[in-house]
Amino acid sequence: MSTQSLPLRRDEAAARASLLKIEDYDVRLDLGSSEETFGSVTTIRFTSRGGPTFLDLKPVSVERISLNGASIDPATLAKGRLPISTDEGPNELVVEATMPFRNDGEGLHRSVDPADGRAYVYGMCFMDAAPTIFACFDQPDLKAPYTFHVSAPHDWTVIGNAPGSQTSPGTWEFERSQPLSTYFVTLVAGPWHMIHDEHDGIPLSLSSRQSIAADLDKDAEELFTITKQCFDEFHRLFGIRYPFGNYHQAFVPEFNAGAMENPGCVTFRDPLVFTSRVTRGMRIQRATTVAHEMAHQWFGDLVTPQWWDDLWLNESFAEYMGNRVTAEVTEYADAWADMSYARRQWGLTADQRGSTHSVAGNGAEDAVSALQNFDGISYSKGSAILRQLAASLGDDVFFAGAIDHFNRHRFGNATMHDLFASWDAAAAEAGVEFDLDTFTTQWLLTAGPDTLSWDPAKMVVNRTAPSRHPADRSHTFRAAILNGTRWTTEDITVSGDQTPLQVAANAVVLDPYDDTWASAIPDWETVQALKAALPEVTDDGLRAGVWNNLRSAWFNAAVDPADVIDIAEASLPVEDLEDTPRRTMPWLFGSVVPLAPAGARERLHEAALRKLAEVAPGSELQLSSYRAAIRSASSESLLREWLATPPAGIETDLDLRWRILAKLAENGFADRAELQAAYDAEPANEARIHLNGALVSIPDAEAKAYGWSVFTGETDLPNYDILAAGRAFWAGPAELTSGYVERYFAELPATAEKRSGWSLAEAAEAFFPSGSVTEETLAAARAVIELDLDPGVRRRVADAADNLQRQLAIKVTYPA
Ligand SMILES: [Zn+2]
Repeated sequence: MSTQSLPLRRDEAAARASLLKIEDYDVRLDLGSSEETFGSVTTIRFTSRGGPTFLDLKPVSVERISLNGASIDPATLAKGRLPISTDEGPNELVVEATMPFRNDGEGLHRSVDPADGRAYVYGMCFMDAAPTIFACFDQPDLKAPYTFHVSAPHDWTVIGNAPGSQTSPGTWEFERSQPLSTYFVTLVAGPWHMIHDEHDGIPLSLSSRQSIAADLDKDAEELFTITKQCFDEFHRLFGIRYPFGNYHQAFVPEFNAGAMENPGCVTFRDPLVFTSRVTRGMRIQRATTVAHEMAHQWFGDLVTPQWWDDLWLNESFAEYMGNRVTAEVTEYADAWADMSYARRQWGLTADQRGSTHSVAGNGAEDAVSALQNFDGISYSKGSAILRQLAASLGDDVFFAGAIDHFNRHRFGNATMHDLFASWDAAAAEAGVEFDLDTFTTQWLLTAGPDTLSWDPAKMVVNRTAPSRHPADRSHTFRAAILNGTRWTTEDITVSGDQTPLQVAANAVVLDPYDDTWASAIPDWETVQALKAALPEVTDDGLRAGVWNNLRSAWFNAAVDPADVIDIAEASLPVEDLEDTPRRTMPWLFGSVVPLAPAGARERLHEAALRKLAEVAPGSELQLSSYRAAIRSASSESLLREWLATPPAGIETDLDLRWRILAKLAENGFADRAELQAAYDAEPANEARIHLNGALVSIPDAEAKAYGWSVFTGETDLPNYDILAAGRAFWAGPAELTSGYVERYFAELPATAEKRSGWSLAEAAEAFFPSGSVTEETLAAARAVIELDLDPGVRRRVADAADNLQRQLAIKVTYPA
């Protein structure tokens, strides 16, 4: 659906916050009367200084509005806003409306599980969708307690932020919640599979769709164990108990983000319930996500940023604390090495683009543009900087400041200046000498990373600050030095533009363990030496660091694609902790292979087959190698053989079956009937997503026309299916898709009439013609950015154009 509404501006939010104090919300929802819409009656009690303001409301229709007993004409509602004139003192506003169920992962999302026809509903108010569920003053600093009353079909379970229970069949009553910001109010309703536990006085629960209940059961103990370990550690570190009562973790379908930290009722994307076999990397990712959302219960939920320009107070802290606590108290002690593969490049690349921003005080002026800052800078870079800060301040001061911050602003809102003041006070109290001002200015308030490189001729480390964001930062980090066949580690501090490093070395890898924040570029001799040396490296952290440095070099056209292929062929990045299908492999096959000398894909395929033959059957390395082999395959007979008889130690589950089918489809070896039959045999949600991707990847005009209808919104699919279609669209011979490059730019603006928010921007990115590495495509991308686009779409296209420009630079520097 499209919500033609005005994004809330910061000055409007500030004016409304100074006018109003919200006493409470009473929300009555009727979820059982229609599949398209639901009834929503909201009573808001608030105190005002008196005067005009507006209410946020995005309904299908309005039945009745009254303010202090006087009715208001619903026709005055425009662009999601209802102007109201408040009395000085207490006010009561009642809105009776019909709201839309949505299928784009925002608002109250409703989906039907194709496996069994059951319908499920969940709320995602973040970041401006609350007014599609209930009438509200939708901004983070107008917190209030909520009391929910829900009627639902009799076989449903309903869970909310506060504890609740079924008082009669289909009627659910909830306790009054703690003060909540509108963006983290939620509701999860449906015939969910529920599992209960308890820890330290906190009732715990998990839920999933019924069709994946067995898979949730299988991992429930692991999930509960991580949750308990993290609660204990957060309680120890913060000294403030979890304040929201129950802690429910709901795995929900078609969720856009990884998870959402709604107090008391966290929602996770349900591919995190593993229905097929996964590698350790995916388990680590799930564990850090669990810990990240728990950290948010303090950083974000207990104390909330006053405005979105401080979203780092949420995300950077949750990311840092989530990774740290996972590594320190759960079975996943290698979480940091995994994060190095998973998130480091996300942050470093975002920080080098034209769209970069500072970690703190990102300057977001309205709610929609703020959404674009939920990026690698707010997460990955913010986490890295906080890790440095904790190391510099020491844990005692770091946490004393955080605790002071929580106590001062408990159930309220705060800004970065509040937190800096708490840290300053804590440092003074402890007698710790640390120049917090300089640190925050250089690392949190200045955008862009320095570039570090080793010059073997001059025996110096060069440091270059980004030209658009000048800075003078010192870096303390470890370097891995290869001398002969022996690796050693050296501690280095770089505080000028050239720092001597006198070592006998055939390779120097700077900052492989992510000690500092910089783009570390390997020199030519190191790249050559890595071809023989990397296969012998068994240190996960060093291997991850090497790949990060190669990717940093790639991003800056500072490494020859042929050299990257040589290294990958010798030492394919299939690690058990590396979630190969989602990280390094897509980069190798999607970005490097197309610009490398002919035959690169075949060489990587042979390397994957060799790896597959040498690793232990049944191991996760075997699974990673097998996926890499499938991804790079083009032989119908081999793919058919695997479909019938997988290698010993592998069982063909849904995920693997569809990986193979997708490859067959992409190469023209599987037709629509075969794909449809495979789906009909196992009609799961995941299978439908794979099916839609595979249908679009078939190399014929009909498949591309179908894919295009998904992009334009003519064919209406749920959000994950749209992404799968977009990622598959440009596969196949260029003559099939070349005509669509121009059409992409011509038809992109109109997609805002069919979609909004998250899925609008994601679709724009997924369908971008990133394989068309030409000056013409770059010019077209730059031209479309100048149009009046949705800010989310503009940001994705701008970043995709930046990628294109970098690919062009590689083509020019290293002609294949
Ligand atoms: Zn988060």
